[in-house]
Amino acid sequence: MIDILSLPYRKKFSAELPKDSEENNFSRQVIGACFSLVETKVPRNPEIVHVSHSLLQELNLSVVDTVEFLKIVSGAKTFNGFEPYAMCYGGHQFGNWAGQLGDGRAINIAELDIENINWKLQLKGSGPTPYSRGADGFAVLRSSIREYLCSEAMHHLGIPSTRALSLVKTGDFVTRDILYDGNKKDELGAVVCRMAPSFVRFGSFELLAARNDSKVLKQLVDYTIVNHYPELGAPSKEVYIQFFKTVAEKTREMVIHWQRVGFVHGVMNTDNMSILGLTIDYGPYGWLENFDRNWTPNTTDRNNRRYRFGNQAQISLWNLNKLANALYPLVLEVDPLQKVLKNYGNEFLAELHKMKLSKLGLYNIEISETFLDRLEDLMERDELDMTLFYRSISSSENRENWEGFNSSLVNSSYKSNDISINDWRNWYEEYTSHLAKENILATELNLKMKLVNPKYVLRNYMAQLAIDAAESGDNRLVDELYQLLLKPYDEQPEMEKWYVKRPDWAKNKVGCSMLSCSS
Ligand code: AMP
Ligand code: MG
Repeated sequence: MIDILSLPYRKKFSAELPKDSEENNFSRQVIGACFSLVETKVPRNPEIVHVSHSLLQELNLSVVDTVEFLKIVSGAKTFNGFEPYAMCYGGHQFGNWAGQLGDGRAINIAELDIENINWKLQLKGSGPTPYSRGADGFAVLRSSIREYLCSEAMHHLGIPSTRALSLVKTGDFVTRDILYDGNKKDELGAVVCRMAPSFVRFGSFELLAARNDSKVLKQLVDYTIVNHYPELGAPSKEVYIQFFKTVAEKTREMVIHWQRVGFVHGVMNTDNMSILGLTIDYGPYGWLENFDRNWTPNTTDRNNRRYRFGNQAQISLWNLNKLANALYPLVLEVDPLQKVLKNYGNEFLAELHKMKLSKLGLYNIEISETFLDRLEDLMERDELDMTLFYRSISSSENRENWEGFNSSLVNSSYKSNDISINDWRNWYEEYTSHLAKENILATELNLKMKLVNPKYVLRNYMAQLAIDAAESGDNRLVDELYQLLLKPYDEQPEMEKWYVKRPDWAKNKVGCSMLSCSS
């Protein structure tokens, strides 16, 4: 174990890419640079809410001096003199080009070599930057708990994600209008220290391309390839195409995982798409409870539902299209980029099909799409809780005979009666005929299915309960959920109280079913 604070920083991003020459902190367009130096706001009365000991452990790190650690992860002090910086990027928001966005409230506080990876440590909510566009640069406890718990939960679900090292309350108040209805409230301020090998987004490239800044664009692409995709070789036109193809593959894998666990990101703008294929920027995200392909937790997107569960694949393709446009000045040929995009769609469908079958314990990919569509139509119609249903049929007694299967339906449905039994029976007959052809012991199949069908996910109401408690000073539920979600595929019999349907009170409650971008 190495004391994290004893690590010397080693600048990579901020050493190898062009820096903004302006050092005063005011909102502006930053041209010809990838980042701006900026100081973190010193919090009034910082206090640790939680530290991710599993992240520390995975990286073979420890915290020796907790007082000093709190100073660093709350922004009160620099990391061994490292010059903090905010990154410049743009993006398409809800389908429209938004120009420069950038880290409006994220500040990189260190770049550390840990076990062969150069990790970036970033404080979210540590004050305004040149990219704040008139906003305050702060974050509230409620959204910070959501980001903290979900980053770690996603990682333990086996889904690529930025990580969260710590969560602190700042002791400052932050004013927010949660539902944008004129009801402003002072909320508790907080800072999450998040970690990733890179926080570069599709929008980082888009902004440079939009500004015709081919010089810095090439620098950023080359930097990303050399540091994060070294296996592709020295940058060249061919390598740029391979780079795009690899980013597309990583993006596809990430979104298929989201579909597998019923995760809806909520704001898949291109500035929220990581170039490493990591789930990033946890805002109004959510997990499907009653299966509904049209569902989005983001009330800001209520009318168009652009980022609904059933549209995440298409949106990832749309976003990759924007990345292709941004890389075009380096490739100067449309066809190879188009080819990657075309394959993306086809491969996505094939992988999605495979993944959906695996949730049912089926591995013969010849099984028709109609079989899966019928299932989803029924799940939607009978409002089956996605997590409960799939987990339930991962036990043979709920899969191998109709009575057991029927009880899975009843137990996971949000409808009290009126389940379409005849249609289910027909579907179930076909299901058992497919299952019969799988050459595998029931006990083995149970194990396999339980590895793709998590038992515990961070339902919005669970996060909201932890938020309510933490807002009144009790952090125990944050810790309980953190511990629970370290092992989402394990039975954890003592935690069964979290293996239940969303309670009725949560159905229409702010923070549970309705979330805005206000954070
Ligand atoms: P998001 O929807 O969280 O991805 O944010 C979109 C853009 O708005 C990013 O450039 C953020 O840095 C910026 N932003 C969001 N909230 C704030 C805030 N409170 N202060 C400053 N910038 C913000
Ligand atoms: Mg963002």
